[in-house]
Amino acid sequence: MTKRATNFNAGPSAIPLPALEYAQKEFLDFEGSGMSVMEHSHRGKLYEAAHNEAIALLRELMSIPENYDVLFMQGGARAQFALLPMNLISEGQSADYVVTGSWSEQAIKEANRVAKARAAASSEDNGVYRRIPKQSELDLDASARYLHITSNNTIFGTQFQSFPDAGTTPLIADMSSDILSRPIDVSKFGVIYAGAQKNLGPSGVTLVIIRKDLVENGRTDIAQIFQYGAHAKANSLLNTPPTFAIYMLRNVLRWIKELGGVKALDKRNREKAKLLYDTIEKHDGFYRNTIEADSRSLMNVVFNLPNEELEKKFVAEATEANMIGLKGHRSVGGIRASIYNAVSIENVQTLCAFMNAFAKR
Ligand code: PMP
Repeated sequence: MTKRATNFNAGPSAIPLPALEYAQKEFLDFEGSGMSVMEHSHRGKLYEAAHNEAIALLRELMSIPENYDVLFMQGGARAQFALLPMNLISEGQSADYVVTGSWSEQAIKEANRVAKARAAASSEDNGVYRRIPKQSELDLDASARYLHITSNNTIFGTQFQSFPDAGTTPLIADMSSDILSRPIDVSKFGVIYAGAQKNLGPSGVTLVIIRKDLVENGRTDIAQIFQYGAHAKANSLLNTPPTFAIYMLRNVLRWIKELGGVKALDKRNREKAKLLYDTIEKHDGFYRNTIEADSRSLMNVVFNLPNEELEKKFVAEATEANMIGLKGHRSVGGIRASIYNAVSIENVQTLCAFMNAFAKR
């Protein structure tokens, strides 16, 4: 058995070992068919069973109401930045965005390329984002087609602890970096979407959970492949889906169910984040996290050391100790530990022990 790395990558990131091992076991012979799952037709019974199981598991684990479609799409979360306005905003209409970091900046920019969007709030402060805006700060347009948020900001390490009230305006959330990490009430949202490569499995598939009335009223004067309605009607088999990625997603969902579902993950995730934030705080400023306490992310814990040289040394020594992916995003620097669902409490304890020893040294 090869030694597994302690993986704090921001995405693609750690995948639960049982999900990988299950795939390994039947890599060459999927369900006794004598072929890899990758070699099966996407219209064959065996693949379709895995595809439908993944959808059913998502419905079960997230308690997705009947009046929502669960879609598997391609092009990553970024494709959704364009597809949402393309499908949902018509001539003369616009949508609202809460800007809380680089990904929401990208999302609003993309919306303005294909339609019209405005910022309902921004927590930008001298080029950085350290907090989530309060409900009272939102300048909502009552006629907006939707209100878009990024539930967890992967780069800045902030996260919505509770979601904005948009009234009757559909709330849309990019949950790429915190999907399935905590219980949420799907019925509060018009659309939830997420690239799979952080909490769900490998890259290549994007999950879209969308209320049926939004699908039904979506624009049909855009290319068919870009229409939510076309994907919903075909059960995400309009064209060839990323079959292996969806199969792996199914394996990850089985693991989540076995672990006790989203509630169990939530408990684990809170414990992991607490371990790290407590470790950051107990060294008299040697480690610094400048995010406002009520906006701190449970998924991406960012911090700085007294200077860049020490940060480089920290990352180098951690890598030496088989801890991978701790360098902060290139746009902000510092350290970032991404502690998604597949990262265990023991993995985080290993990092905390290293931080204690490093600070002491
Ligand atoms: N939104 C968020 C919150 C992200 O973290 C990322 C990727 N890191 C993206 C969108 C972009 O995702 P993709 O690469 O799947 O397009």
